[in-house]
Amino acid sequence: MTSLDDLPLRDDLRGKRPYGAPQEEVRVSINVNENPYPVPEAVATNVIQKIARSLPGLNRYPDREFSELRERLAAYLGGGIVSEQVWAANGSNEVLQQLLQVFAGPGRTVMGFGPTYSMYSLLAQGVGSEWIAAERDEDFELSPESARRAVLAHRPDVLLLCSPNNPTGTPLSLETIRAAYEAADGLVVVDEAYGEFRPDGMPSALELLPGRPRLVVSRTMSKAFAYAGARLGYFAADPVIADAVRLVRLPYHLSAITQAAACGALEFSDVMLSQVDLIRAQRDRLVTEIAALGYRVYRSAANFVMFGGVADPAAMFQEFYRRSILIRDNGIPGCLRVTAGTESETTLFLEALAEITRERPELKA
Ligand SMILES: *Cc1c(COP(=O)(O)O)cnc(C)c1O
Repeated sequence: MTSLDDLPLRDDLRGKRPYGAPQEEVRVSINVNENPYPVPEAVATNVIQKIARSLPGLNRYPDREFSELRERLAAYLGGGIVSEQVWAANGSNEVLQQLLQVFAGPGRTVMGFGPTYSMYSLLAQGVGSEWIAAERDEDFELSPESARRAVLAHRPDVLLLCSPNNPTGTPLSLETIRAAYEAADGLVVVDEAYGEFRPDGMPSALELLPGRPRLVVSRTMSKAFAYAGARLGYFAADPVIADAVRLVRLPYHLSAITQAAACGALEFSDVMLSQVDLIRAQRDRLVTEIAALGYRVYRSAANFVMFGGVADPAAMFQEFYRRSILIRDNGIPGCLRVTAGTESETTLFLEALAEITRERPELKA
């Protein structure tokens, strides 16, 4: 059989591995930070009607500028953001890819603060850029001074700031983002994939957009919005950034069906977001109860929690898997990550963790 090694691959892709979070049928799937609640029926009905109305027109290419969708996304973000500032693609991973195609590319550098979202290094690699993982402070926090120092030391062409950070849950203060922006001369992207889960009173980086033309805030409908299967991510920035990504986007990259599905859900955004408070409550419950079992839990402003104090993360992952519970081993020494599910899913996880801790005490550090 032919293997990858036999193909005339790009040299810089040889030996590399694709993104591969396990996708398996289990009782409790709490490994990729999805919203556990299905799309409510009223929204599904509206989406079906929107798609049905778009269907006879599928002989034509879709609106290349997805004008209605950009209007709706701008209205959803609020804060005076207008549609010219908004851009969307098939998931925020594609949004990030387009940004890197324009602002990074061969011979350029992309930097983030590790451990962070595993796709960043893969996206950088895909456009032929060098990935730089700068270090965080104690407990995966990042102070304005540390951010400034790392940016000045490496001068990246694109800085990817994940807030709250996946997989640690740690949010960045606006002071840290401001300090990083001021030190940088390249593009600064704040990935707020989990922005809607942040605690009350914690501001979004959207507030920093005015007067900062190199700043981009990316969001997604995949997490709080409970629409991961629809594949819709977007950003807000100075309108000139949207002009820049038009240089690399494929023509008609958002299908008419995707546009209709996204618009149909945005018409009911309050219904789509109605479970966010329940999920935040389960997140806070995970923080308290995992700590009560004697593990080290990190601060989280997202819908997941990372905990340390695990002597053998791979073996503990297997113990959960054996109980048909899928969590995430991100390869961070001594740590595992778990998504806040429904109340009963979270209960099943916590009961399993208590049982594993009791039955296999050697797995706890
Ligand atoms: C899940 C996630 C995304 C979202 O990806 P989509 O392509 O929009 O589904 C983006 N950034 C981070 C940090 C994530 O965890």
